[in-house]
Amino acid sequence: MSDVFPEDLTPISELGEFGLIEKLTSPFRIRRPATLKAVGDDAAVYRVGNGKVHVVSTDLLMEGIHFDLTYAPLKHVGYKAVIVNLSDIYAMNAMPFGITVSIAMSNRFTLEAMEAFYEGVKVACDEHNVDLLGGDTSSSHTGLCISITALGEADEDKVVYRNGARENNLICVSGDLGGGYAGLNVLEREKRAFLANPDLQPELVGYDYVVGRVLKPEARRPVIEVLEKEGILPTSMIDISDGLTSELYHICNHSRTGATIYEEKLPIDPETWKVAEEFKISASTFALNGGDDYELLFTVKLEDFDKVSRISEIHVIGHITEPSQGVNMVLRSGGVVELEAQGWQHFSSEK
Ligand code: ADP
Ligand code: MG
Repeated sequence: MSDVFPEDLTPISELGEFGLIEKLTSPFRIRRPATLKAVGDDAAVYRVGNGKVHVVSTDLLMEGIHFDLTYAPLKHVGYKAVIVNLSDIYAMNAMPFGITVSIAMSNRFTLEAMEAFYEGVKVACDEHNVDLLGGDTSSSHTGLCISITALGEADEDKVVYRNGARENNLICVSGDLGGGYAGLNVLEREKRAFLANPDLQPELVGYDYVVGRVLKPEARRPVIEVLEKEGILPTSMIDISDGLTSELYHICNHSRTGATIYEEKLPIDPETWKVAEEFKISASTFALNGGDDYELLFTVKLEDFDKVSRISEIHVIGHITEPSQGVNMVLRSGGVVELEAQGWQHFSSEK
């Protein structure tokens, strides 16, 4: 790839997504005392007075990269575009109150198509009690682009960052993992079959759960609510959009710790197991490296073990270690492997 650029210029693929963000944002310093967190967490955090903070997070979704309109109806795309942003707000232990929605679309999109998109946006706003605050509209030469910003509110002393994990904290995840990637594999398989023979109907019976994980993911508001109700304040938290391994590395890198998780503790739905078997990939790989689950990964103090154990949608999967131990997984066989951060590599030249 690099031979298409003059020698003194750097292809983005050499840096990767996080390297690029780091390079571009490192000249910026926080200027304003109210800004508590800028780049580097699920959302930025700033003080608004009376012990309260606002949090803000933004995501850009590009047709053909983040969603495929061959199998994702526009209503679902609208719903999901909001949900992925709200997920980042919950990951700060905050409650969302508003969104802005900006869209750019090519001339193949009709009014009816965009209304369907906004129906999905509305369902998400209704479910999560947030207001549509505004946005922006433009035309595009490259299909549909969606940029959503979500705003939320929290008590300053209850905001949870990625950097608060400490040795011996318990590592917890909500719900189950790998379903999003399993669903994506099924949808891609059916798309290939359809392209090869357009008379074929997609075969999705028996895959409802995993396909639902891709097309209609949930943001984990109930988890934030139950933690609050049980008096558990996580020490660190992140939402799982890029696969467990990648997010665990974010927590460990920001907190300067290591981690050990247990393969047998990974929560995996039976349907995800079934799909993994069909694709001859281990279900753990789906859970560790697949994207699109939008569960929460967080750490709690050891003394909260009894409390978290009583909450059915929360699973303790391991513990935080000292940094020199690295980030490891104890296999079902008893062996130990160091986890390899993969996740979604937006700019990898292999893609
Ligand atoms: P998430 O996956 O939780 O949405 P990202 O991985 O997209 O978060 O972003 C990581 C951090 O980098 C966030 O704090 C985000 O605001 C920041 N960031 C991403 N892209 C840019 C950019 N182009 N300019 C400034 N900050 C950015
Ligand atoms: Mg996030």
